[in-house]
Amino acid sequence: MPVLGTHRTLLRRAAGGCAAILTLALACACGSSQSTTSAEQAHPSPSMTLSAGPSASAGASAGASTGASASASASASTSASTSATGAGAGASAGASASPSRPISSNSSSSSGSPSSPGFSLSPSAPASSAPVAPATTAAAPVPAKDAPGSSIAYSTASGGHTVALTFDDGPGPATSQVLALLAQYHVKATFCEIGTQAHDNPALVKQILADGHRLCDHTVHHPQPMHTLPHDKQAYEIDAAKDMITTAGGPGAQVSWFRAPGGDFSADNRQIAVQAGLRPLGWTVDTRDWSKPGVPAIIANVKKELRPGGIILMHDGGGDRSQTVAALKQLLPWLVQQGYTFDFPAS
Ligand SMILES: [Zn+2]
Repeated sequence: MPVLGTHRTLLRRAAGGCAAILTLALACACGSSQSTTSAEQAHPSPSMTLSAGPSASAGASAGASTGASASASASASTSASTSATGAGAGASAGASASPSRPISSNSSSSSGSPSSPGFSLSPSAPASSAPVAPATTAAAPVPAKDAPGSSIAYSTASGGHTVALTFDDGPGPATSQVLALLAQYHVKATFCEIGTQAHDNPALVKQILADGHRLCDHTVHHPQPMHTLPHDKQAYEIDAAKDMITTAGGPGAQVSWFRAPGGDFSADNRQIAVQAGLRPLGWTVDTRDWSKPGVPAIIANVKKELRPGGIILMHDGGGDRSQTVAALKQLLPWLVQQGYTFDFPAS
């Protein structure tokens, strides 16, 4: 069980999670820092209820992933909810021991990311060190305002020694390289796509589906911050993106999750997502690849933060992703060597 200090570490770490600020009005890079006060975090925190959910979506193994359904393990998917206190840093069902996660000291980032079709990115400010609420040892109740099923998924569908790879901000120029590597290792992943990017690259969306991967809604324009937008605009960002992605994917295309840009979840946008049939999707490992910290740093983040059942955040869009591709080339065989099989997030 994590201790209080761990929670504080987590929250601070989460504050530096994903991201970037668009140099255009839109834009992206997950993992952006959250400087606002009411936004939720894509990483687990004591204020949120974690749930692996009852779903048993595919347990695609590295050796023979077929996308076939797998029954949920008791540790991962049968409990309706687990308190953040109990879930800990690994956040995933199945994670057990003492996940102490040091505060990241490299949360600031360089600016001037190269532009990509549709938008360009400029990673944002350092993580906030604002005070956090004290951890509690009691199970965190689900807030009354939360819609059923709107809790953020922080674990794989099957739990156990699995991992879910997620790629945000595409489809883009790096998507084909990512797909080729995933195919080489027979790995299935989840792609959190920006609506306009999907609209502009329908062939890539179709290829993602043809390869057995799954889709996640990452809004139309990747607004940051998202939770401060009026309700109607947030609803548009989620609903229209879902339509754009499914249209790009072709007949039968499905979108199963919603990931807020920069992990900027709120009760409001989570409820909008649930009404659209989408499960809010967080992550437990921020590779910080969007900040282009170097391939060794990306790999080190994974080795440091990954726990069984975890969800890894990477990016196939939003700028030059050559470091991401190079890191993935090393991470995939490492994950296989560590005995991980590849799963989709809880849905
Ligand atoms: Zn993003």
